[in-house]
Amino acid sequence: MNDAEDIQIHLGDSSTTASVEEKPTPAEELCTYAAPCGRVDDVERAVYVHEAVARGIEEHAASSPGNEVGGVLLGNVYRSGGSDYVRIDDRLAARNAEERRSALTFTHETWKALNAEREARRPDLRIVGWYHTHPGLGVFLSENDQFINRNFFRDDMMLALVVDPVASERAFFQWSGDHMLKLPGFLIFGDASRSNEVHELAARLLPAQRKTPPRPSAAAGTPPEVKVLFTEPGLNLYYALPRPLRQLLGITNNETAPRIGLKSAVIVVLLSLLAYQQFHRNTDLASPLREASVRTRVARSLYNTGDYTGALRAYTEAQVMNPTDPEPYIGQLSALAMETDLSTPSALDQFRYRAGAVLDNAAEHGGRPMGELNKWAVSAPNLTGSASQEIRKLIDDRVRARRATAEGQTNRRRVSFFGWIRSWF
Ligand SMILES: [Zn+2]
Repeated sequence: MNDAEDIQIHLGDSSTTASVEEKPTPAEELCTYAAPCGRVDDVERAVYVHEAVARGIEEHAASSPGNEVGGVLLGNVYRSGGSDYVRIDDRLAARNAEERRSALTFTHETWKALNAEREARRPDLRIVGWYHTHPGLGVFLSENDQFINRNFFRDDMMLALVVDPVASERAFFQWSGDHMLKLPGFLIFGDASRSNEVHELAARLLPAQRKTPPRPSAAAGTPPEVKVLFTEPGLNLYYALPRPLRQLLGITNNETAPRIGLKSAVIVVLLSLLAYQQFHRNTDLASPLREASVRTRVARSLYNTGDYTGALRAYTEAQVMNPTDPEPYIGQLSALAMETDLSTPSALDQFRYRAGAVLDNAAEHGGRPMGELNKWAVSAPNLTGSASQEIRKLIDDRVRARRATAEGQTNRRRVSFFGWIRSWF
């Protein structure tokens, strides 16, 4: 900030505004043509810009869309019809200014060069303001800009022109007391023979109808708001999210809903397909178990409808598919009991044979201990007293047979052991 004291600014020969020369405006003169760019009726001191200057500034601005560029405006202040106006006839680009993304700084060298150039090129004109660009940031005066205005362009007649070449917006700022006001418009003038070109340029530079982005309150301290010119088209998740979830996330409307980029959506879909495929492979591996539970469920409903033959078949299938599940065994016993008329001897034989087979399977393939089978016989649903008794008898037979086998094996081992001992004598 000390730069302000170091720099000597020579605003030109007629730097005092006390005596303002009377001169018809370019609009009033016959040899020139002026076209308004924006509203100019209620502007206190109208601003007239020569078309060559306007074009030059636009070109300068467009030449560096990534950085702020700038320069000074050359012209004079005149009076016509009792009111002052500023007429800009030339400009000088600031060559050694530090051009950055969000700020333009006039260095000592910049000022020296600008003053020398003005002296050499247009000694008849004085510096009436400065211009600089805000690429993609909108038209406003940042803290830094206001510092420059206060320290280098404090004269009441001084102007500041800000151009956003990205949004194609531009506006002059003019002192009004302690503040610089944004002018709603200015005038472009040129030779009367070029009225068409002047008219077209004024129309082209007309401020766009849409709103300028909100002005950052402290542009100097905060990082610049970068306008994103192209965003990936996204899918709005407002309609995809269920209402309770939206309420939970505080999403009130379409605008506040999150958006998912197309690229991300494609990735999510591909990952989902992959996961689905993986899941399918897993279910293929687990399908015998799943099929067994489906069979069991079918068997249960068949049993409930009274189709005991069908239930028996379904339970048997389920038992083969998943031999460790006790339900199909119990189901088979119950279905057998319901299907068979235990009062006839031949049917009873058949019941014993088939129930025995179920119990053998449960012990052998299902790894069920006989004690648990015994419990089934008591607690299995719909097992009538006689069927229950029969099953218990079958289980007792098996327990006895096992014990006998086990004893036989032990005896045999003992015998062979003694035989082995005896063989030594
Ligand atoms: Zn600025």
